[in-house]
Amino acid sequence: MTRTVWLTFDDGPNPDKTPVVLKYLKANNIKATFFMIGNLAEQHKATAEAVAAEGHYIGNHTYTHTVVQGLSEAQIKEEISKADVPLSKFSTYQKWFRPPTGALDATVRKVAASLGFDIYKWNVDTKDYQTKDPAKWIPLGIKEITAQANTAVVLNHDIYEATANNLQKFIDEIRKLPNTTFGAPSNLPVINVLPGGAEV
Ligand SMILES: [Zn+2]
Repeated sequence: MTRTVWLTFDDGPNPDKTPVVLKYLKANNIKATFFMIGNLAEQHKATAEAVAAEGHYIGNHTYTHTVVQGLSEAQIKEEISKADVPLSKFSTYQKWFRPPTGALDATVRKVAASLGFDIYKWNVDTKDYQTKDPAKWIPLGIKEITAQANTAVVLNHDIYEATANNLQKFIDEIRKLPNTTFGAPSNLPVINVLPGGAEV
């Protein structure tokens, strides 16, 4: 049995931290998926272009990083569509939507589908956004990857120094796991419910 690990990075692009993440991904010949915030992609176009130029995929993480659960159809449509405009300019952009915090409801699913988007969540949460401490997020990520038998989609954030600067260590720890390889973004699995099927 082989376990495949996909790395995903949310909330960028960030002109300082994203290039550090790109450096480590390139050094390790790993391609990842970056779920970008539309207004940041407008502000930091060159950073987003570098992500695409290195062959990483780009997904839609709303325009302003608003939690879309509970919003009206028009509000949800605006958050996704407004981000779609700048993101569509990047060559590796996919109609892949990741709701901020993962929170969604039936209206979000309906609007995303009507706009042609699939929803991509994760099943490994390093909580790098909470701890901002590699002594915590790396072991937690490894523990959660180990709990997945076949498919591990890892949530990280390319906006924190503690994530970007310690990515090599995380990759090294993943490589120590038995029968574990990195997956290409073109095969990123659709995970649109939380483990256990609970809707948040
Ligand atoms: Zn986010």
